[in-house]
Amino acid sequence: MSAELFNVADIFGENVFNDAVMQERLPKKVYKNLKKTIEEGKELDLETADVIAHEMKEWAIEKGATHYTHWFLPLTGVTAEKHDSFISAPLPSGKVLMSFSGKELIKGEPDASSFPSGGLRATFEARGYTAWDCTSPAFVRQDAAGATLCIPTAFCSYTGEALDQKTPLLRSMEAINVQGLRLLRLFGNMTSKKVTPSVGVEQEYFLVDAEKFLQRKDLIYTGRTLFGAMPPKGQELDDHYFGTIRQRIAAFMRDVNIELWKVGVSSKTQHNEVAPAQHELAPIYAEANIAVDHNQIIMQTLKRVACQHGMKCLLHEKPFAGVNGSGKHDNWSLITDDGINMLDPGTTPHENIQFLLVLTCILKAVNRHADLLRESAADPGNDHRLGANEAPPAIISVFLGEQLEDVIQQLISTGEATHSLTGGKLETGVKTLPELTKDATDRNRTSPFAFTGNKFEFRMVGSRDSVASVNIVLNTIVAEAFSEACDVLEKSDDFQKAVHDLIKEYAIENQRIIFNGDGYSEAWVEEAERRGLPNIKSMVEAIPAVVTDKAVSLFEKFGVFTRAELESRAEIEYESYAKAINIEARTMIDMAGKQFIPAVIKYTKTLADTVIAVKGAGADATVQAEILADISALLKETKEALAALEKVTAEAAAKEDGADKANFYHSAVVPAMEALRTPVDKLEMIVDKEAWPMPSYGDLIFEV
Ligand code: ADP
Ligand code: MG
Repeated sequence: MSAELFNVADIFGENVFNDAVMQERLPKKVYKNLKKTIEEGKELDLETADVIAHEMKEWAIEKGATHYTHWFLPLTGVTAEKHDSFISAPLPSGKVLMSFSGKELIKGEPDASSFPSGGLRATFEARGYTAWDCTSPAFVRQDAAGATLCIPTAFCSYTGEALDQKTPLLRSMEAINVQGLRLLRLFGNMTSKKVTPSVGVEQEYFLVDAEKFLQRKDLIYTGRTLFGAMPPKGQELDDHYFGTIRQRIAAFMRDVNIELWKVGVSSKTQHNEVAPAQHELAPIYAEANIAVDHNQIIMQTLKRVACQHGMKCLLHEKPFAGVNGSGKHDNWSLITDDGINMLDPGTTPHENIQFLLVLTCILKAVNRHADLLRESAADPGNDHRLGANEAPPAIISVFLGEQLEDVIQQLISTGEATHSLTGGKLETGVKTLPELTKDATDRNRTSPFAFTGNKFEFRMVGSRDSVASVNIVLNTIVAEAFSEACDVLEKSDDFQKAVHDLIKEYAIENQRIIFNGDGYSEAWVEEAERRGLPNIKSMVEAIPAVVTDKAVSLFEKFGVFTRAELESRAEIEYESYAKAINIEARTMIDMAGKQFIPAVIKYTKTLADTVIAVKGAGADATVQAEILADISALLKETKEALAALEKVTAEAAAKEDGADKANFYHSAVVPAMEALRTPVDKLEMIVDKEAWPMPSYGDLIFEV
């Protein structure tokens, strides 16, 4: 879209089959039935579905739609869709009708054999079902394919096992709803009808020029650079973070926002991030399942619009070594249908007993299931961030801030909290500035799980990953803690005493998980070890957490996953790790063998010719000869490292799928990849730029 004027309020949600549209277009009775399904989980009858489908189709056709798709989140992490047009079989007249039945709306049957199932579904049993998730609204997407009606769905096998992220997410939301209401009732709240996890996802990404991107096989095949020397300038000046947004990027962001607003994604915040060419987008928070869908829409939109602007959007966690990687912050809280945020401490948290119980339950949940939370953020790209040389650390801890930490300390030492620290006034020293009240708590940027006023912010998720997993884990582990607290409190005769005792007990038992200091420091790694907190450094080490007895009994208790589903998920993770590293290794082999080594050989010939010519002319050629010797030595090193990587990759690929294979990729192939990268990056620093076969880091991140 060009710079013409438009009103955001007019376009917001114009392509969404939202409540307003349904209310306007559906017969009263049908609308009521659907609302019951959405709000109370009542089953939808086929008759109602037929009417909805018809209206949805008419509405979509008015928006130009020719096709519909059941839009779902298989375990590949990216959304999948199969498109069907609305046309019916041709009539005797040769014409067609546009039709869409209730059955087609609520159930799809994609051939599911090519989606990962981790052994849950044998390939010969290809049947899989998609079922309409009517709690996440359908929308019309406009792109090069024209317009398509997208119907958010869940995806499961013939026997009902979840093959996607949506199904367990919805199950976990139900678990926290039931347990959250139970807890509220104990405190005399008889009016709230529903507790919903609310989620706001901040998304980081890089933008690079498309032409340059296309000259790099590593970016094309793996989404990250596998080679590349650091430019003279990196992010050390901190001049990019919140810096003025350049015009090309601003035009891109404008179009992204328009696209997002049209499909009802409330894109709100945008800014430059720490690394050059790195940016962030955040929508306003929404119900967990909608937020998860919206995050997928955001990722797709960023990619699509970038192409329209001659750029490529990199969602990989670590596109460039040596500069900041990208993540997602998953902001999470529990909000009732009547607007109560269970994570809101109020101004005097020490008096807010319900809040203190919720808080200490969360501490308990995170302390007990730190391994699961860590696992939920594991993906191959995130290995370069978590526990490697950048933030957040791989150790799970909770940041509470001064005010809450003080309340918890009072509870632990005296059994009672009598006061809350206040923020006081902010002294700016400038009279013309308004007087600001300070927050009682400073921000902390290094904690993986930080309390930020009225929500927790989980910062470990990778930028490319779906936020479904982490929210499934959060919802379920907190549901478990609530449930255990309610078991105790519902039985007690003296509620006030019992709840005080319980809060104190939880605070004492779980205090090791609280950490307010610098999460990046080496001292914290040692301290965490003393406290017995797990420090799980890699994806392959994280995966076993999902199949421990502790995990199985947790997820089975709340009907979120069966043991078989968990085992299949572990299998899929091992497989996807092995595949990802295999592709990276083979890309490196290809680039080194076909691009770097030939380019360097050519360059050494030029240098050798120069040495001879200079010598022949009777001048001193020692400098040229020295450079030639250096380059030749690195070339030899490169060739040897290449041979070693080829050997170990072949060995890895021949192994049988599973944990061993994934572990072998991690322990043998990854180091061999690093060993190949080192001499190539050194060569890049001394070989003539003209002779180097692809754009450098500097070209990519400073010249967008
Ligand atoms: P930051 O200061 O970390 O950038 P913001 O306050 O801008 O954070 O919010 C980041 C995200 O958190 C946004 O998506 C915002 O809508 C979301 N958010 C705000 N309040 C809540 C809440 N109560 N529950 C869940 N998410 C929330
Ligand atoms: Mg944040």
